[in-house]
Amino acid sequence: MTRSRYPAGPVVETRWWTALDDGRVQCDVCPRHCKLGEGQRGVCFVRAAQKNKIVLTTYGRSSGFAVDPIEKKPLNHFLPGTAVLSFGTAGCNLTCRFCQNWHMSKARETDLLAEAATPEEIAEAAVRGGCWSVAFTYNDPVVFWEYAVDVARECRARGIKTAAVTAGYICEGPREEFFEWMDAANVDLKAFSDKYYKDLCGAKLDPVLKTLEQFDFTWPTKINRLQVQNLFRLKFIEDKVNAIFIGGVGLGKTHAAIALGLAACHAGYRARFATAIDIINNLAAAQKAGRLVKEVKAYIRPELLIIDELGYLPVDKHGADLLFQIISRRYERGSIVLTTNKTYKHWPSIFNNDSTLTSAILDRLLHHAETIIIEGKSYRMKDRIEP
Ligand code: SF4
Repeated sequence: MTRSRYPAGPVVETRWWTALDDGRVQCDVCPRHCKLGEGQRGVCFVRAAQKNKIVLTTYGRSSGFAVDPIEKKPLNHFLPGTAVLSFGTAGCNLTCRFCQNWHMSKARETDLLAEAATPEEIAEAAVRGGCWSVAFTYNDPVVFWEYAVDVARECRARGIKTAAVTAGYICEGPREEFFEWMDAANVDLKAFSDKYYKDLCGAKLDPVLKTLEQFDFTWPTKINRLQVQNLFRLKFIEDKVNAIFIGGVGLGKTHAAIALGLAACHAGYRARFATAIDIINNLAAAQKAGRLVKEVKAYIRPELLIIDELGYLPVDKHGADLLFQIISRRYERGSIVLTTNKTYKHWPSIFNNDSTLTSAILDRLLHHAETIIIEGKSYRMKDRIEP
């Protein structure tokens, strides 16, 4: 093991806490604000009260490492085609019932954290492994804030980027500082409803929305801002008008669409978000299982349906028919926000060069629609032109 300028761990002092009048200490990393008596652990299990302070008990301990394609995080526009060194620790501040990494996120045995690794060692491992970035993943880095930030610091010193895979459930102070150290983030918005967060994740929606709101939606160099601002008045939803965002990859179409979805939810509308391919695959599976009608209804019901990334993958005749069902049934009944990298004249190439079906889809979509063209350099290029 190399000498490290960081604490050996696994127990380290933290900064984000408040001493309470009743002798307990309150952790202020996430909106749970666990109030802990001496020796007690927070909901995340890895932050605890010791000697009237909040400590992190998993510093410098990992539940394992893996080299993955960055697309697995999944990050589509960040260092595409490169390898990322993934690692996690234990514990989580959400209690999602569907967690696929439950054995790490809900670990109550710190024995699971078999591998000791200093921040320098992790950054060096990324360099040696040909990884362009390190991802804090498997469990939410919010709960191992101090360790994640120190690893990010060492990565930055070596020109290695960092990516946080997080639910974004974090308080304002730690949030700002944490994301200053991250080069990319996958903030997992699990649902648009507070009830869903409460019932299935033991959390609240609003802090996650605040995390999402802090990201920079201003990168595209050419966009009709008045037109977009007007969309955010949401009259288009009331009028059952569609909004089609057209632009190349990495220009923030998806960000804009999600932001519209969030604004719609805040205004009390129901919204659903899915990629075009996910909708098609979902409907195809439902058809096989004999529940197509029910599944179609689920895409028709919300006042706003966001269809992301149409045109990134070709769609066969069956897929196009399924997508057409959604678009035609929402016609004059509910708004669609759609993002695509293809201008309308190239849409036949999306739908297997079936010009009849393409025309039918375009007819329904464009009869009441606004088209927003986004031009500029992509986030991929941004990395190259901004040191
Ligand atoms: S980070 Fe852990 S201890 Fe701190 S408030 Fe959240 S759940 Fe509680």
